[in-house]
Amino acid sequence: MRAGGLPILTYHAFDATGGVTATDPAWFAETLSTLTSAGFQAVDLASWIAQGRPPVERGFALTIDDGLRSIVEVADVVARYRATATVFLVTDRVGSDNGWPGQPAHVPRGPLLSWSELESLGSLGFRFAAHGRTHLPLDRCDDGQLDEELRGSRDAIEQRLGRPCPLFAYPYGRSNPRIRQAARRHFAAAFGTRLDTANSEQDLHQISRIDAFYLRSRRVLDRLATGRLQGWLRLRRTLREGRGAMTHPFSWRFELSA
Ligand SMILES: [Zn+2]
Repeated sequence: MRAGGLPILTYHAFDATGGVTATDPAWFAETLSTLTSAGFQAVDLASWIAQGRPPVERGFALTIDDGLRSIVEVADVVARYRATATVFLVTDRVGSDNGWPGQPAHVPRGPLLSWSELESLGSLGFRFAAHGRTHLPLDRCDDGQLDEELRGSRDAIEQRLGRPCPLFAYPYGRSNPRIRQAARRHFAAAFGTRLDTANSEQDLHQISRIDAFYLRSRRVLDRLATGRLQGWLRLRRTLREGRGAMTHPFSWRFELSA
């Protein structure tokens, strides 16, 4: 592993359906057990950013996109390991569901947590960050819509939950220089889906993450727990970029589900 690279893991739904965006709660518990047994500690993402992204010898961070209600399936696990998990919220949809326009057909529809449920999760180690107002792909927004999605989701979280909201995750992981410039105006840091550990050399508004889909096997989890993930990530990136997002059906579907 690259010295000091922080694995930021990205989750969506928690159930045992085996879907591309779902993680079995039992496997999530096993993941935290394996990592903590290996001496890893869960890092609070906002603090890590505020501290200037220092190298972390044995750390990882948990992120959960969209704010689905199935998060409650793992709330006790997060609390038990005294971990911090950052949940990226789609603020106009809080308390509703994830059936936003553009949601791929293969992603199961599910309810999203309400503001009061989010508030009660705060005491169990969950932190909240922005993921847009409506989950629009930002590269399809004009400047006014872009500002509304970024600033609007930040303001909603700060007003409803009464805490600063310095972090953003791009819907579908999609950003470009115009989007990142706008994100810089409203957030201390923003996250994409480039498959890599995170470090202080990366653009603060295009920080890499590792989708939990890749951590479903014991073999890959053990690589992470023993500091041998970096070479494997490089290989996966090469395969992903080589085949092209639009030419491989699974890759294309997966990219859109992020
Ligand atoms: Zn999302």
